[in-house]
Amino acid sequence: MAEPKLIVVSVRLPVRLVEDGTDWRVDASPGGLATALRAVSQRRSFTWVGWPGTDVPSQHLPAAAAALEEYGVPVFLDYEVFQGFYEQFSNQLIWPLFHNISGRLKFDRTAWYQFEAVNEQFATAVRAVARPGDTIWVHDYQLALVPRMLRESKLECPIGFFLHIPFPSHETYRTLPAREEILRGMLGADLIGFHTYEYCQHFRDSCLRVLGLESERETIALPGHLAHLGVHPIGVDPQEIGEYAQLPEVRDQFEGLRNRFRTKKVILGVDRLDYTKGIPEKLLAFEEFLGRNPQWQTGVVLVQVASPSRTEVREYQELKREVDELVGRINGRYGTFNHTPIVYINRMIPRSQLSALYRVADIAFVTPLRDGMNLVALEYVAARGDQPGILVLSEFTGAAACLAGSRLVNPHNISLMADVLAEALQDTGSAAAEFQQMCEFVHSNTSGVWADRFLEHLANVHEVHRSGACRLKATADFTRHVPEVRPLFILDYGGTLQPHVPEVSEAEPDLRVYKVLQELASVASVYVISGRPADVLESWFGDLPVGLICEDGAAVRGPGAEWPEVPEIDLTVLDTLVLPIMEDFVRHTPGSKLERRRVSLVWHYRATDPKLAALRAKELYAQLEGTLRGLPFTVLAGARAVEVRPTDLTKSSVAEQLLQSHSDTHFVFCAGNDRVDEAMFEVVLRSQRDTIITCLVGGEDTVGQYFVESPAELVSQLEGLVSLWRRSMATAPG
Ligand code: UDP
Repeated sequence: MAEPKLIVVSVRLPVRLVEDGTDWRVDASPGGLATALRAVSQRRSFTWVGWPGTDVPSQHLPAAAAALEEYGVPVFLDYEVFQGFYEQFSNQLIWPLFHNISGRLKFDRTAWYQFEAVNEQFATAVRAVARPGDTIWVHDYQLALVPRMLRESKLECPIGFFLHIPFPSHETYRTLPAREEILRGMLGADLIGFHTYEYCQHFRDSCLRVLGLESERETIALPGHLAHLGVHPIGVDPQEIGEYAQLPEVRDQFEGLRNRFRTKKVILGVDRLDYTKGIPEKLLAFEEFLGRNPQWQTGVVLVQVASPSRTEVREYQELKREVDELVGRINGRYGTFNHTPIVYINRMIPRSQLSALYRVADIAFVTPLRDGMNLVALEYVAARGDQPGILVLSEFTGAAACLAGSRLVNPHNISLMADVLAEALQDTGSAAAEFQQMCEFVHSNTSGVWADRFLEHLANVHEVHRSGACRLKATADFTRHVPEVRPLFILDYGGTLQPHVPEVSEAEPDLRVYKVLQELASVASVYVISGRPADVLESWFGDLPVGLICEDGAAVRGPGAEWPEVPEIDLTVLDTLVLPIMEDFVRHTPGSKLERRRVSLVWHYRATDPKLAALRAKELYAQLEGTLRGLPFTVLAGARAVEVRPTDLTKSSVAEQLLQSHSDTHFVFCAGNDRVDEAMFEVVLRSQRDTIITCLVGGEDTVGQYFVESPAELVSQLEGLVSLWRRSMATAPG
C-alpha cells in the first residue's frame, strides 16, 4: 500500500505555468509557504493541489497538465470564474473585511457563487488524490469552504486549515455576507490554525454570535466532530536568508548601499503596495519627524520598497497615486541637491536583494493598519546576523504578538510614530538586548518549525476523541431480529426527529418522519415527546398507533388511548418563589423573557447577548436550585432556556414511568437533542435491560452511547432498523 501522504491545498501552486510557443513550461516561483514546507516535503510523501497561475485554453489542458505533473495537481480555473472567486469575493470582500477595512466592501452574489464553485473544484481535486490515512492541509481564506466540503465526503483523513490573514472581531465579521457559510466551511477542519491568540478568540466569538456555537478555549463541538483551534505563528527561514547574504551579487549590492549611505542613518520600509500596509501613514510620520527634527533632515534616508500589487484594481491605483504624491511632496520639501529623503522603489525586488537592504538598514519601519503576521519584520531580524537593528512595528500585526523587543506603534497616531522614530534614531547601536529578544523568536520559530508543529498538532487531535460516543449504525450495531418482547422507543420530537424551525407553528412532521413512526409502531412500542400541547400532537400523530407525551412531560397517553384527566397540581411555588426571581432576571438581562406554561415557568434567553446569557443562565440556575431545595420541583437547563416544573412532570420522570410500565422489555431506544434529553438518557441507562441505545442528535459530546449529526440521519437509521426487522420477521420460520 502507498505511504500516507501530505496533501497541501493552496490557491496557487508553488510554480507558475508559462506559455512557450505551442508548448508550456513551468517557472519555479516558491513563495513563503513552499519554503516553509520544503523540509516536510523532503521527509514524507507529498502532493500540492493548486492553481497554476494562468488561464489555460481547454485544448491545451492535457499539455499543461503534463508539464505540471511532477509539481502537483493543477486546478484549472475558467477566467471569468476566477475573477469572481479571486479578484472579487476573496480580494475585494474577505481581504478588506478581515483587515478591518469595511468601507471597501463589495458583495456580488455571482462572485459568491463563483467562490463556492471554485472551492468545490478544489475539493474535487483533493478527493481525486486523497486516500484514507493521508493528511490534508488547506491554506487560507480563499479556500475557507474546502474543509467542510472534504469532511462531507467522509475521507478518513485528518483535515487542517490555516488562516494566513487576521480574523476580525465579531462586530466586523458579522457584516460579511455569507458569514455562516465561511465559518461552517472552516469548522469542517479537525484543526484550524491562526497566527495569534487574538485571532483565535475572535473566531470563537464569531462562532458564538453568528452560529450560536459555544466553545472551549481550544475546541468547538460540532455535530459529528470536534474542531480544534491552534495558535501557530508562522516563521521565516533564517538559514535561507543567511545564504542570500553570502551570494556574491548580494554582497556587492550591500557594499554599494553601505557606501552610498555611509554618512546617513537608513530607515527601511518593504511592503506590497496594499492599503492594509499603512504606507501613507508611514510617509506622513516621516514627514512630521523631519519637520520637527531639522538636525536630521539631511542625515537620514527612508528607503521605501513598494512592490506593485493588484494593479488593475481601482483602490490600488488610487493608493499608488496617493503614495506617489506624498513621496513627491516630502522629497520636494526636504530634499537638497545632495540629498533625497525618500528613496522610493516601486517595483518587486527579489528576496535575495532585500537581504542587502535589510542589512544596511539601521531601523525597519513596519506600519500596517492590519497584517496577519508580516514576514518583513521577521526577515529583517533574521537577515542582520549579529548586527543589531531596531524594529519599529505596528501593534496591529501578528508579529507584534511574537516579537518582544520590537518598538510598538499605533499606525493611526502619526505624531507618536514620529516621536518613536526620533527615539529610535538616537538609540541605534545601543539596542542589542532588544534585538537579542527578537532573534530568539525568529531563530526558534522558523517556518519549518511552524509547519512541523501544525502537522504534529493535527495528527494529535485527530487521535483524540473527547467523548466515548460512537456514531449510530443501527443496522450494524444491534440485533438483526426483532426482540421477542416489543422494544420500547422513547423519541423526542423537535430537534430530534424533525429539525427545529424558527416558527413553532411550522414544526409539523414531514411525511418521512410520519412514515417511519408508523412502521416502527408495527414492531415496537413508540412514544413521542414534545413541548407542544396535546391538541397539536393529536393533530399531527393522532392517526398513528404511537404514545404521545405533551408539554415535555405534562401528560402521557398510551398508543390508541385517551389523554388522562389532568390531576390537580399545586403550582403556588411557581408563583410565589420562582416568578419573582425570574422577573428580576428579565429586568436585568436585556433580550430575555418569561413564558408561563401550563405546568412550568420558563426563562428564555435566545435573544440575549450570548456571553451575558451564559453567565446569567448559570446564576439563575444556581439561585433556583438553592431556593427549591427539598421541594418537588426541578430546574432544567434547556436550549437557551431555564425552566422550572414539577419533578413528576419532567421528561426524566416520564421515561421512568414508561420503563416501569414496560418492565418486560429487553430493548430500549431513547433519542434526544439537548441537555434535558440527556437527563432522560441517564434514567434509561440506569435501567437494567439487555440492549439500551441512547442517541444524541447534533453532537457527539453526550452521556449517551451514540450520536448522529442530524434529525435526517436519525430517521434514516430508524428506517434501516425497521426494514431489517421486517425482513427478519418475513423470513422467520413459522
Ligand atoms: N517581498 C519581496 N519583494 C518585494 C517586496 C516583498 O520578495 O519587493 C517579499 C518579502 O520578502 C516577504 C513577502 O514578500 O517575504 C511579504 O510578506 P508580508 O507578510 O510582509 O506581507 P504580504 O505581502 O504577504 O501581505
